[in-house]
Amino acid sequence: PGGNVAGVDYAGYFKEAVSRLHGERRYRVFADIERIAGRFPTAKWRQPGGKTAEITVWCSNDYLGMGQHKEVVAAMTDTAARCGVGAGGTRNIAGNNSPLVDLERELADLHGKEAGLVFTSGYVSNQAGISTIAKLIPDCLILSDAFNHNSMIEGVRHSGCAKKIFRHNDLRHLEELLQEAGDRPKLIVFESVYSMDGDVAPIGKICDLADRYGAMTYLDEVHAVGLYGARGGGIAERDGVMHRVDVIEGTLAKGFGCVGGYITASAAICDAVRSFAPGFIFTTALPPAICAAATAAIRHLKTSQWERDRHQDRAARLKAILTAAGLPVMPSDTHIVPVFVGDPERCKKACDLLLEDHGIYIQPINYPTVPKGTERLRITPSPYHDDALMDQLAEAMAQVWDKLALPLREKALAAE
Ligand code: PLP
Repeated sequence: PGGNVAGVDYAGYFKEAVSRLHGERRYRVFADIERIAGRFPTAKWRQPGGKTAEITVWCSNDYLGMGQHKEVVAAMTDTAARCGVGAGGTRNIAGNNSPLVDLERELADLHGKEAGLVFTSGYVSNQAGISTIAKLIPDCLILSDAFNHNSMIEGVRHSGCAKKIFRHNDLRHLEELLQEAGDRPKLIVFESVYSMDGDVAPIGKICDLADRYGAMTYLDEVHAVGLYGARGGGIAERDGVMHRVDVIEGTLAKGFGCVGGYITASAAICDAVRSFAPGFIFTTALPPAICAAATAAIRHLKTSQWERDRHQDRAARLKAILTAAGLPVMPSDTHIVPVFVGDPERCKKACDLLLEDHGIYIQPINYPTVPKGTERLRITPSPYHDDALMDQLAEAMAQVWDKLALPLREKALAAE
């Protein structure tokens, strides 16, 4: 296998595909990292030669450090000790595990919906949720934001329904498309926080349009759950419009620090997705220990505001000190701090230098995650990045920017 079989160079296809990526300068390299529980955001970096070094992680989507929170870790280890580690099969085979039932109740309550349905990831929840919901609506037209995440695009594609893309967060364009669609059923799919730019959708105004033109709404709150709203219900909760959105989707992997994804909606919608989505039916359920950990994280963040306040404070300070250092911080309304580079090779080089020379880990963000020419560093300060770490980061970035002659502030503003 992989050799030259009967004149077909199988291995060659794969090597050539990867060398194309090298040629386009978008071959991805992942650092080998071990996080240290209790010392967030410090981790061990195992270098290619095998040596290890302590580093500071500045790009984790475990936004609030909940993956290491004592209550969350205890819920996971206690439940694993009690129930074992696996789920024992798909829900069709093994039934629901009780911690999973509790988790779905917790999620429904978080978003003020009748029901919740948990999947193995946020990716799967979008792919299975959007495709199944749209397929079950006869003659459905999907209206999808141009910047939607790949998992939503795949959900739209798998539905087989007609689709129209509206310009990112552009209410006027969305309204035009809704008008053109006339009386046919319509599903608007969009995100609350767009994770590469850190901007926010006008959820209430999108719901106004949905009401006016008789459309259903599906909102991805993956980068907002746990982080925004008085109980961590996301931007829709913060804006007081949760009840106006038909389906709210989220992840257990970022703000809640675990793994898994979900939708919350009416009992009828969740029951239909449970009954018809292959991505739900034909895969092993989330294990009880993970469910218990996620429930602990959600419960903690429903009542503790400290993480959310400190998170916002840290993001604001980081934006201020990087800007003061002349670095090209791109405008962002949220906790995400993008810094403009505008070239894939130098973006990767900047990250390499930060890691090798300064013990700072930030993953480069290149095409196709962002459009070509807008390559960037995406920094995600957490409640645990203190002032000293921030000063160290600003100093290190200034040195790297100087060394690579990277564009300073004016260029980032021009790119917007
Ligand atoms: N939706 C958005 C907007 C995302 O950025 C991601 C990225 O991880 C996902 C969904 C997928 O969530 P998960 O990581 O839980 O699969």
